[in-house]
Amino acid sequence: MKIDTVCVRGSRSFDPVTGAISVPIYNCATFRHPELGVSTGYDYSRAINPTRSALEETIALLERGKSALAFATGMGAISAWIKLFMPKDHIIVSEDLYGGTYRLFSEYYEKYGFEFSWIDTSDVNKVKAALKENTKAIYIETPSNPMMKITDIRAMADLIHNRGGLLAVDNTFLTPYFQNPLDFGADFVLHSGSKYLSGHNDALCGFIIHSNDEYETPLRETQKSEGATLSPFDSWLCLRGLKTLAIRMERHQSNGRAIAEFLRDHPKVERVFYTGFEKNEILQSRGHNGMISFYIKDPADVAKILKKVELILFAESLGGVESLITYPLVQTHGAIPEEMRISAGVTDRLLRLSVGIENPRDIIADLKNALE
Ligand SMILES: *Cc1c(COP(=O)(O)O)cnc(C)c1O
Repeated sequence: MKIDTVCVRGSRSFDPVTGAISVPIYNCATFRHPELGVSTGYDYSRAINPTRSALEETIALLERGKSALAFATGMGAISAWIKLFMPKDHIIVSEDLYGGTYRLFSEYYEKYGFEFSWIDTSDVNKVKAALKENTKAIYIETPSNPMMKITDIRAMADLIHNRGGLLAVDNTFLTPYFQNPLDFGADFVLHSGSKYLSGHNDALCGFIIHSNDEYETPLRETQKSEGATLSPFDSWLCLRGLKTLAIRMERHQSNGRAIAEFLRDHPKVERVFYTGFEKNEILQSRGHNGMISFYIKDPADVAKILKKVELILFAESLGGVESLITYPLVQTHGAIPEEMRISAGVTDRLLRLSVGIENPRDIIADLKNALE
């Protein structure tokens, strides 16, 4: 089946018992056993829940993995993933990445003895130079956040597999509709499903997807033991959002291009970062999202723009149907130390847009007014 069909129909196109064509919300904590040693396969919803399982199977199909695990948030998924490693293990991480992931690794796992190197992974030679005896994994975001740099997934997989390590790709920005990292040798895909996958700014969720039976048990044990599992209702919201993923991504793509072109030509804008403007010779993605970062010439204009936007909402997050504008310096990337932030390009002149699916003329009119 093609991916747009999988989005709509998921793993279970109807409920086998009632025929319901929307997956039922099993708002149930515990499940009865018919007798000792006999089970329906369900026991307690922290470990397994039918609505969550339907979503996990759908996500696994979309990312072409063997299995997917759903968590309460993206951070819950990343936290569970890192438990596959041990103190003294070294992990190379994209330097230009989601601030919350930086905070989790640097403020928590460094304290427990994990070692990290923050590297511009779009440069394979820099990654090569950062490899150490104890390097066990590479963790990347591509395109990166917020500078939209592309990292070659296949090159990263080859580098780390040569030394018996593992590659994880946070695929939140492109979604499986545009990019499938497992096809390029990644061992794990991570998602904040709170963004494009759910798509409506009404739910938080996170995923780990993998293709190796070896990781299924340890990941499930962590999911069950830490308990950051996705609720039945949020599982259903995500399943509902996924039905329109394909058409939403197409619209995010066409709107994103229109707005990026408008900004590129605007006299108050110095530079636009948009993957659709880069020559992407790696050819690992099939399209572009609605994410655009841009430098304003005069930093004094930033506050004015954020106050003047009306249709575009000044709010954190991305990937929903509503257009949002973010100031990475204080919002998404506030946790990153100044030196590293500036080296990554996150300055007081940088704004980030998550272009929604409204009429592009209305979005442009709002930006035009705000930039005046
Ligand atoms: C938002 C985000 C996360 C964290 O996900 P939550 O669902 O907010 O916990 C991780 N990675 C990326 C790229 C994100 O945008």
